[in-house]
Amino acid sequence: MTVALRMSNLHVPTLKEDPTEAEIASHRLLLRAGMIRKAAAGIYTFLPLGWRSVRKIEQIVREEMDAIGSQELLLPFVQPAELWQESGRWEAYGPELARLSDRQGREFCLGPTHEEIITALVRGEVRSYRDLPLSLYQINLKFRDEMRPRFGLLRGREFIMKDAYSFHDSQESLQEHYDDQARAYGRICERLGLTFRPVEADSGQIGGSVTTEFMALADTGEAALVYCECGWAANIEAAGTVVPQTSGITEPRPMERVHTPGIRTIAELSQFLAIPEHDTVKTMAGKTPNGMLVYFCVPGNRELNPLKALRAVSGVELLGDEDFAAYSIPRGSLGPVSPPEGTLVVADLSLHEEVAWGIGANENDYHLIGAMPGRDFEVDLWADLVVAEPGDGCPVCGGVLRSARGIEVSQVFQLGTKYSESLSATFTAEDGTERPFVMGCYGVGITRSLAAVIEQHHDDSGIVWPISVAPLEVAVVPLSVDDDTVWPVADELWRRLAESGVEVLIDDRDERAGVKFADADLVGYPYQVVIGKRGVAAGVVELKERSTGERTEVAIDALVETLASRIAEERSRYR
Ligand code: ATP
Ligand code: MG
Repeated sequence: MTVALRMSNLHVPTLKEDPTEAEIASHRLLLRAGMIRKAAAGIYTFLPLGWRSVRKIEQIVREEMDAIGSQELLLPFVQPAELWQESGRWEAYGPELARLSDRQGREFCLGPTHEEIITALVRGEVRSYRDLPLSLYQINLKFRDEMRPRFGLLRGREFIMKDAYSFHDSQESLQEHYDDQARAYGRICERLGLTFRPVEADSGQIGGSVTTEFMALADTGEAALVYCECGWAANIEAAGTVVPQTSGITEPRPMERVHTPGIRTIAELSQFLAIPEHDTVKTMAGKTPNGMLVYFCVPGNRELNPLKALRAVSGVELLGDEDFAAYSIPRGSLGPVSPPEGTLVVADLSLHEEVAWGIGANENDYHLIGAMPGRDFEVDLWADLVVAEPGDGCPVCGGVLRSARGIEVSQVFQLGTKYSESLSATFTAEDGTERPFVMGCYGVGITRSLAAVIEQHHDDSGIVWPISVAPLEVAVVPLSVDDDTVWPVADELWRRLAESGVEVLIDDRDERAGVKFADADLVGYPYQVVIGKRGVAAGVVELKERSTGERTEVAIDALVETLASRIAEERSRYR
């Protein structure tokens, strides 16, 4: 199928001015290049060029899914509440789940993800280990009533996702497909022209334990990550870390109780006691579901990572304002020496060798210095508790961690039997027993990927597409449309380029050259063929490459062949 479009027929409403609501490049450029329009907060219309790019991303994802034996289907977007009640997520998902009821008062939700509906489908139809493994995927809308939709397509409420789900009779079979999916995700990122890193991550709402996120690196990304030369990388939410030992105090000293009136923060304490912040220890209080108090001790200059706290003590929640009164403990002065009876004391591994802690005395306006674990108090559990920071040690090789920001474009999860158990989805195993399916799920944010591509590929004039995602490959720009030497050449080249398999547009508007050039750079067609009266008289046109800005004169006769082969070569770099 040839793609030969005329600008005069195409709805590409470019904007001259930067829209004020757009804070980041991809949002601004998608609006300015006439690719999307906002319908409501976090809800967008895709205009013809925007939709072409979306479909190119979908096609790449489709090819990579098909290549690893996943099969495409389409699941319903509107899902019955009963399935979500069965899995327990009707309650657990909270206000992000958009709920509605039909005229009979039956409850439904708009699919934010599709584990429930696919598990229910498979449990009714796949009965034997002989039918496994099975991998199914769809490309569909998702709706999540995000608290803060922002940055255009990066964090929408309605967005397009490719989600795949796999069903297995064993962990080994899951691992095999999970590895295939992860490799496919790497190839998808490469084919989209994204600079990315796979990172260890936390599994959040979806559940499960083993998971990897694919981060497109960008300063505007909402995710923070740390990485090491050795190749290890992790989302900061999940990153293990080795905090360097910083204390200069190696000899134990007597513990002293110090009056510290009005001292509330670590900075104030460190100044007051004239000891560095890293020699103070911050204590944060949490409670378990059965009401046990837990004190988490971390170096004064570091932050407690709530996910690591949860990993150390299952079900623990940090105390809210009311809790401090209920447990009658002094918020600003907590410490591990003589806490309330039955308190579990958990301390960060980096404090293990510290012999003189500056801590709260569990009494308003008092602190202790020189407190020593094992002598003055007991630590019940040592664990990695802090948020990783650049400069920390890599948990794999001990190298120095660096930090970066990223956009999570995709994620793969090993779900295990979480959904098959709660939804009673079983198969008959080879030995005749009934077992729950072992499952995985794998998501690519199609529309978020589009934004991520633009975040990484733009300049001051507009978008600089990798050819794999460009809405069109070539713009033919005649400098005048009513000149009877220029127009026939432009029209002819446009047709012949299309026939040669290139996706081409002709800017047939009766506009000034400057307007046409600015629009072409803004939308970012990888190649522009500029046709002017003087050139035609000399038998040449100008070929401009968007990514380098390089302009070359090419003989009219050679243009189609030259350009078609350059494009073929460039496309092959993204295959
Ligand atoms: P985030 O942490 O950014 O909210 P998530 O981890 O909740 O995302 P997943 O459930 O892993 O998202 O969904 C798979 C993919 O769907 C994500 O990797 C991302 O590319 C995309 N996605 C998720 N939420 C949004 C959103 N609000 N807008 C656009 N794309 C999204
Ligand atoms: Mg995710």
